[in-house]
Amino acid sequence: MADSKRYVIVGNGVAGTTAAETLKKLDPQSQVTLLAAEPYPLYNRVSLPHYLKGTVSEDKVFMRSVEQHAQRGIDLRLETRVAKVHPDEGVVVTEAGETFPYDKLLVATGGHPRPLPAPGADTPGVYYFQTLDDTRAMVERFATARRAVVVGGSFIAYELAEGFRRRGLEVVWLIRGPRWLRRILDEDGGRLVDLLARDHGVEILYGEEVAEVHAAQGTVKAVTTTGGRVIEADMVGCGLGLDFYTELLDGTGVDVRGGVVTDEYLATNVPGIYAAGDVARFFDVFIGRHNQMGTWNNAMMHGRVAAANMAGARRPYREVPVYSSGLFDSKITAIGATPENHPEVEAVSHVDWDNRQYQRLFFLEGRLVGAVLIGDLRARKKIVDMITQRERVDDPNRLILSLT
Ligand SMILES: Cc1cc2nc3c(=O)[nH]c(=O)nc-3n(C[C@H](O)[C@H](O)[C@H](O)COP(=O)(O)OP(=O)(O)OC[C@H]3O[C@@H](n4cnc5c(N)ncnc54)[C@H](O)[C@@H]3O)c2cc1C
Repeated sequence: MADSKRYVIVGNGVAGTTAAETLKKLDPQSQVTLLAAEPYPLYNRVSLPHYLKGTVSEDKVFMRSVEQHAQRGIDLRLETRVAKVHPDEGVVVTEAGETFPYDKLLVATGGHPRPLPAPGADTPGVYYFQTLDDTRAMVERFATARRAVVVGGSFIAYELAEGFRRRGLEVVWLIRGPRWLRRILDEDGGRLVDLLARDHGVEILYGEEVAEVHAAQGTVKAVTTTGGRVIEADMVGCGLGLDFYTELLDGTGVDVRGGVVTDEYLATNVPGIYAAGDVARFFDVFIGRHNQMGTWNNAMMHGRVAAANMAGARRPYREVPVYSSGLFDSKITAIGATPENHPEVEAVSHVDWDNRQYQRLFFLEGRLVGAVLIGDLRARKKIVDMITQRERVDDPNRLILSLT
């Protein structure tokens, strides 16, 4: 045991857990320690919206047990938040003051929801949607709630609107911009989503934010919007985007710009420290620049690739991230690079109102780099292949018509 490698992984989401399991497979003699702030072994965040809606039970959300980690020889420490990394000494220190020495360290800490910036935002009945505990709290509240306000233009805001509506609540959804996913969709895409939402009984108010949350008997009663409307609500669901857990790297010299910056091998600029998953701002070989993705598959594949490289390989990360989700009675998928992270992309779009289908393709330097599809998602595979092959596209309009 004396010479075995010590791998420490911070964060036990899908990136961290996949990395821990991959390391144990590649290097069975190694010591793998998985430090987890939350009190649970890996659970499926992508299943949380289904639990919120009531279409799956809570136990179906779990993906691993504590015993499975023990069987695999992974030292899982729950409710153990890392406060600080000391690269010179090769140790991490937890909030409780415990130290863990490492030879190689993986930061897979993900993110936390941006808080609602309004007076009264700390009133019970204001919810975020990132963890199992967040979801449990909302599910409990459904027993007595009748009306909800949702705030934000993100995928998570959509999941809240859909979940609340499915639970029979009256839902008003406030979006600051002119449409949902304002940068990824254009005007037609936004109108299509608005139709889908209305058919589902969700009213969207654009150009509106929460100015104040009002309470009665210690819980949410109503919100006032920036446009001066007063909307009665028993619950407020916020999907305002994520900030990333990077504080543990303060003062380490690791390059942090929004996320933890890595090369295509998921290595940071400080030797021995890697990053994976939502928190990683990785060099994306398909677009020739840094990219950051909030998708399950990206986090899982990051975990695999980072682990291989920590164990001595030199394997670049070469995956096109795909985020697929329901969209009321339709479906949506976002693929690769989009204007959300890369405002410089050029775009063409096509909408078929009769069949409620929409495609928008994104290009950089004459190559397809990303897309968003609503309705019929069958072109997904072809798009991923084209992005991977980095073919030049001479006529984007012809390409989009060929996909419909
Ligand atoms: C409600 C919801 C729905 C989603 N739906 C989809 C979907 O349909 N499709 C899709 O592709 N993606 C979806 N996603 C996104 C997807 O779940 C994430 O991209 C993925 O889970 C990220 O995994 P991760 O391991 O990078 O980070 P996380 O899963 O965020 O895990 C990071 C863990 O690290 C812990 N941590 C943070 N700091 C520390 C510290 N200092 N010490 C110890 N532990 C720490 C955190 O508490 C957390 O448990 C959804 C996300 C949510 C919340």
